[in-house]
Amino acid sequence: MQTEKNIAYKTMLITGASRGIGAATALLAAKKGYVVAVNYNKNKEAAAKVVDTIKQQGGLAKAFRADVSKEEEIVRLFEDVDAEFGNLTSLVNNAGILEQQSRLENITRQRLQRIFEANTWSTFLCCKEAIKRMSPKYGGNGGTIVNVSSIASRTGSPFEYIDYAASKGAVDAMTIGLAKELADENIRVNAVRPAFIYTDIHSDGGEPNRIERIKETIPLKRGGLASEVAEAILWLASEQSSYSTGVFIDVTGGR
Ligand code: NAP
Repeated sequence: MQTEKNIAYKTMLITGASRGIGAATALLAAKKGYVVAVNYNKNKEAAAKVVDTIKQQGGLAKAFRADVSKEEEIVRLFEDVDAEFGNLTSLVNNAGILEQQSRLENITRQRLQRIFEANTWSTFLCCKEAIKRMSPKYGGNGGTIVNVSSIASRTGSPFEYIDYAASKGAVDAMTIGLAKELADENIRVNAVRPAFIYTDIHSDGGEPNRIERIKETIPLKRGGLASEVAEAILWLASEQSSYSTGVFIDVTGGR
């Protein structure tokens, strides 16, 4: 008998998929035939809305609450996704946070811890759980991992959030190393590096209209849409990018 667990679905787990880039990725993934595990932390209603939209369009999705800055919640998240859908084929490490713009000397150790736990440790620890499900060494059939980094890893974000930029720089280094580590296990690891995308994150950074302020300095003269980042993520997760691993797609309007 075919149940949800034993049909060979492509299942994609997206961390932080209740809003912004993660939500857009969830909607596009469902359109491309993935069963979608929509992770969220605080925003249950927004996650439910993403799931409802997918279901209304004939897709299959479920919301899973977990704070991915906490290892025990990550472990439980992957177990819950296993129990619901079984076959994890793609992981998108998208959840991320930003704090108020600040010079480095005003950044506290506690803030550094929050930023690195949410942006960096979460990515490492989610990859760890994904490898245990995807690698042939553990009985898996391979898969794809896409990390959502930021162009901040290249610019360093002076006077704004060097902590955030460094947390993404670590993700970039990990993407390169892990891609090589997993290359002969049929697991590809890539990343997107967005910038200036219209989402709530700029309010968290203390400047909701940041994109409007700087858009004339962006070669394409506009901010980007979450759906434009989702397209790059889905390409890296798909068979269409089968000869690419350890690479970055910058989605930055040319900056
Ligand atoms: P956003 O609109 O603020 O959404 C952030 C998402 O992450 C929300 O779904 C939130 O869940 C989730 N999240 C945050 N902390 C979490 C945690 N500890 N556990 C689980 N989920 C958590 O942000 P966004 O702009 O879409 O950003 C998505 C990713 O893109 C981030 O990694 C960000 O650094 C990166 N990025 C964005 C831009 C940009 O211009 N927007 C540029 C470069 C990179 P809740 O709703 O439940 O709180």
